Amino acid sequence: MRTFRCDHCDSPVYFENPRCVACGHTLAFLPDQFRLAALERSDDGLWRVAGGQTEGQPAYRLCHHYVSTDTCNWAVEAADSQELCVSCRLTHQIPDLSLPGRQASLYKMEQAKRRLVFNLRELGLPLFEHETLNPLRFSFLENLPEAGFHVITGHDHGHITINLSEADDVERVRSRNEMGEPYRTVLGHFRHEIGHFYWDELIAPQEQRLDAFRTLFGDEREDYAEALKRHYEQPDPQWADQHISTYASAHPWEGWAETWAHYMHMRATIETADDFADSVRLPGQDPKAARQARENALMMARGLDFDQLILRWMRLSLALNALNRSMGMDDVYPFTLSDPVRDKLRFVHDTVRASAILA
Ligand SMILES: [Zn+2]
Ligand SMILES: [Zn+2]
Ligand SMILES: [Zn+2]
Repeated sequence: MRTFRCDHCDSPVYFENPRCVACGHTLAFLPDQFRLAALERSDDGLWRVAGGQTEGQPAYRLCHHYVSTDTCNWAVEAADSQELCVSCRLTHQIPDLSLPGRQASLYKMEQAKRRLVFNLRELGLPLFEHETLNPLRFSFLENLPEAGFHVITGHDHGHITINLSEADDVERVRSRNEMGEPYRTVLGHFRHEIGHFYWDELIAPQEQRLDAFRTLFGDEREDYAEALKRHYEQPDPQWADQHISTYASAHPWEGWAETWAHYMHMRATIETADDFADSVRLPGQDPKAARQARENALMMARGLDFDQLILRWMRLSLALNALNRSMGMDDVYPFTLSDPVRDKLRFVHDTVRASAILA
């Protein structure tokens, strides 16, 4: 994730912020410009980047969820007829928001989804309806025990369902311990499920890639329900030799989704680190030159080959774990990467690079 600066007062601002905490300007993410901007409302009721001329500037509306519930901070291009931003419009089904706590849980889900959309665009991957085989959509649902309805987090032909209880920290930590998943996070769920989506999009339709997948991850035609049952009854004690996580050993599809999620963790975290390193601007340093240096670093990171990428990741994750331990906290990255796992990550990297439709 990149860091951004307020167009009005130059303070650092986070991707999630709806307002600049320093100067109070309205902030919104502009999907077409791919950046968070400070906006001002013009006389015509539309929003434009702060400080510029009204004339000739791209104009925006705020996403309907920004205006109505303050649960989104993205903008919609004025020419776009839809009320919702490109991220909110991917949401298909939500729970009854009149019930207590649901709005806050939905906010956490949508926030993680916006990060996901940003990361996928950053990787240049096809994401929207006209670019994909199955239109992508999300449902955030909750168990209704009295109606016998139990939500299963998962992916089905572009439709990703996530159990809303994952937004509840207590509930998620309970599942994390119960399932032995040290890295269970809301964003992690999104990255895992979108991995299944991209398997359908990028692996299944391409014979050569499918063969390569089977060599590395195993044959996905193995009965899925049986494999999962076996995994839960008798998990593979040797899973770490071949897999990134214990769940990855359940079935080749899960191995792929877990590896894909890991790849996204790596890329996003490396980008954040790079961005911070280059955006610590010294007093008196020309902001434009600093921005250019940062852009160059990001471009370089995007072009890294896999061996360089993994080397940076090893160094960065060691530093992250050491920082956390210094604060008396658990490791940020409690994983080791065996050679077969590195080969799988390399395959994900090659697939992403070969499939990028955007520069
Ligand atoms: Zn500001
Ligand atoms: Zn929105
Ligand atoms: Zn899965």
